[in-house]
Amino acid sequence: MKELWSKRARELTPYVPGEQPRQEQLIKLNTNENPYPPSAMALAAIREAANDTLRLYPDPECRSLREVLAETYGLNTDQIFVGNGSDEVLALCFQAFFDPERTILFPDITYSFYTVYADLYGLKYRQIPLDQHFAVPLAPFLEQNGGVVIANPNAPTGLALSLSGIQAVLEGNPASVVVVDEAYVDFGARSAIELVDRYPNLVVVQTLSKSRALAGLRVGFAFAHQNLIAALNSVKNSFNSYTLDRLALAGAEGALRDRQYLQATAAKICHTRDSTAERLKAMGFQVIDSSANFLFASHPHTAAKTLLDGLRQKGILVRWWDKPRISNYLRITIGTDQEMDALCHALAQLLEQS
Ligand SMILES: *Cc1c(COP(=O)(O)O)cnc(C)c1O
Repeated sequence: MKELWSKRARELTPYVPGEQPRQEQLIKLNTNENPYPPSAMALAAIREAANDTLRLYPDPECRSLREVLAETYGLNTDQIFVGNGSDEVLALCFQAFFDPERTILFPDITYSFYTVYADLYGLKYRQIPLDQHFAVPLAPFLEQNGGVVIANPNAPTGLALSLSGIQAVLEGNPASVVVVDEAYVDFGARSAIELVDRYPNLVVVQTLSKSRALAGLRVGFAFAHQNLIAALNSVKNSFNSYTLDRLALAGAEGALRDRQYLQATAAKICHTRDSTAERLKAMGFQVIDSSANFLFASHPHTAAKTLLDGLRQKGILVRWWDKPRISNYLRITIGTDQEMDALCHALAQLLEQS
């Protein structure tokens, strides 16, 4: 069947995204989407942008959006790159900063797209084992390497590294690029953006998908020294000049301008997360300390797969991986308080039955 495929296409093992069900009634706690709507300012900006200018190509340099980002994060526009979701930004980072002959490093338990990109671009990688508490150990990231990728907070564990930890990795790797994927940073971790001016080897990647409730708009960013941003632009402009459409550009600006809404919704999610963690612990779950909008939890008496299937039958989707070390864990996205009530009731029933 695959004779007409390129060798590269035949050898790929693509990323498998969490299920996006057609049935609306399901409680969806499986892909770390935000349970609250996007900012009204984002939606108004998108509506306003839906006009006859869609006839024209969008700004390939995304200048206006980069200006708003520069203002929001206290950087210069030449320290900012934007892309079609942070997945695209990460893919461009792998192409712009890593070479096949130099082994890159990332944790063994982390965002599974990293191995997919490394394989796609023919990069060698070493997966550094998390310690027994699922923390990212720093020493192995100081050994010789051709680049480092760290999600902070990490996914799917939710554990965050301190800024001094990130700094140690940056200082130990002056000759390689360190990519810090901050998809969940607004839910409680300290951002490394403040280090961008000091470390020419740092790239911070963020997204509007999680804390800004705009997973459907596909907007992500990279913050780095202008030298690294130039490399990203070079790769991007060898691939697609117009990665962000006019509606996405407008919506992203609207979302970034509404800082109050971000703070209010992120605080609400953190509050729900912490109370849900307590309820799960009271049911006997071991729950990893989360700085993200999800919990990573394991029950000593009931297999995670059993709970996954039982929840699904009750109309609740969560995420589970059949992978070493984490196959007895569920990753549960934080929804509304009502959704978490439903989750806790369902889990209590399933634990009783098992
Ligand atoms: C969700 C997620 C992303 C991707 O986000 P998009 O901007 O929607 O592409 C990147 N990294 C991690 C760790 C994520 O969990």
